[in-house]
Amino acid sequence: MLFSQVVGQSELKKKLRDSVTNGRVAHAQMLVGPAGSGPLPLALAYAQYLACKARTDSESCGTCGSCLRYAKLEHPDLQLIFPKNKTQKVDSKNFSSKDFLAEWRAAVLSNPYLNLNSWLKGLGIENKQGFINVDDSREVLQNLSYKAYDSEYRVVLIWLAEYMNPASANKILKILEEPPERTVFLLVAESTENMLQTILSRVQIHRLGRLNETEIAAALPGEDPVRSKQLAHLADGDLNLAKQLLEDEASVTQSIHFFIQWMRACFAVNVEAIQDLMEEFQSLGREQQKAILQQSGSILRKVLMYRTLPETKEKLLQEELEFVHKFSRFITMNNAAGMLQELDDAHYHIERNANARILFTDLSFKLSDLVLSEAMK
Ligand SMILES: [Zn+2]
Repeated sequence: MLFSQVVGQSELKKKLRDSVTNGRVAHAQMLVGPAGSGPLPLALAYAQYLACKARTDSESCGTCGSCLRYAKLEHPDLQLIFPKNKTQKVDSKNFSSKDFLAEWRAAVLSNPYLNLNSWLKGLGIENKQGFINVDDSREVLQNLSYKAYDSEYRVVLIWLAEYMNPASANKILKILEEPPERTVFLLVAESTENMLQTILSRVQIHRLGRLNETEIAAALPGEDPVRSKQLAHLADGDLNLAKQLLEDEASVTQSIHFFIQWMRACFAVNVEAIQDLMEEFQSLGREQQKAILQQSGSILRKVLMYRTLPETKEKLLQEELEFVHKFSRFITMNNAAGMLQELDDAHYHIERNANARILFTDLSFKLSDLVLSEAMK
């Protein structure tokens, strides 16, 4: 990956390049931002730059032996660690990122802005949680005991470091405390929220800003510049979301439809309709269930925005507008916080394998109470 292939982030690119030019490359760094802002492609561009034999002040050469290997993510001095889980193909007791390397390379080469959901879906395990395990950390240790192949710096790239389980994180921490020479740990994370404080204190953190609309629109493959601009606007700084919207407008519309139907059923306390929706919800993969809950929260926020700033309706999709307008009477500052909290809690429990049927039914009645509490006034 070249820096020029990474959308936007020009300030951070410069900071990373300068660290190399000035010989001040920190041994452990972490790029933090949503997948759609590009922490992974930026980490890959930086790693390639570190290893390039003929880099300039601004870019890797793209043609040396090292760059050619990096272009295929096959450099012997690049170790790749990422979340995964058992699949039909890999289901032994011990497994590590190495067992999934071919699939990961293919997925990242086809979309360097890959997110966890798409990655797990590609493996056919979207119902499972992905994680980085202690076998991964063991392999990192083992690898570091060998000499570097031929690079000035070798790189251990940990994608979505927040998914290291405790055993794995503690082992990595030990390595970070006594860093081997000429080795750079590049951690990529969407957020630092669930990470060990002791790890955070060992890494230099770079936060990625949201991309602006022009950067996103220019990076979209579509032929229609007006639509690209609209999608960039809707995606709110997230290239992944813009691409996803473009490729898969139908699925987003679907989760909006689901939420709208659901709220109508809750409002009418229509038990039969709630039951049908519960069946539908239960049949979805865990990641999709989480996506629906998230999408629901985002529509609720839009309703509140619409109440306070009616001009924000320009940001709404056609499907949302009617609903938002109608429900803005029943969703107010009084009940919205409670509803958002319930959705958040449900998301938390789904992530921890709660029973989807019970959870959805319970949540529906709670939301129903909250909506009706305002409607009765
Ligand atoms: Zn090169």
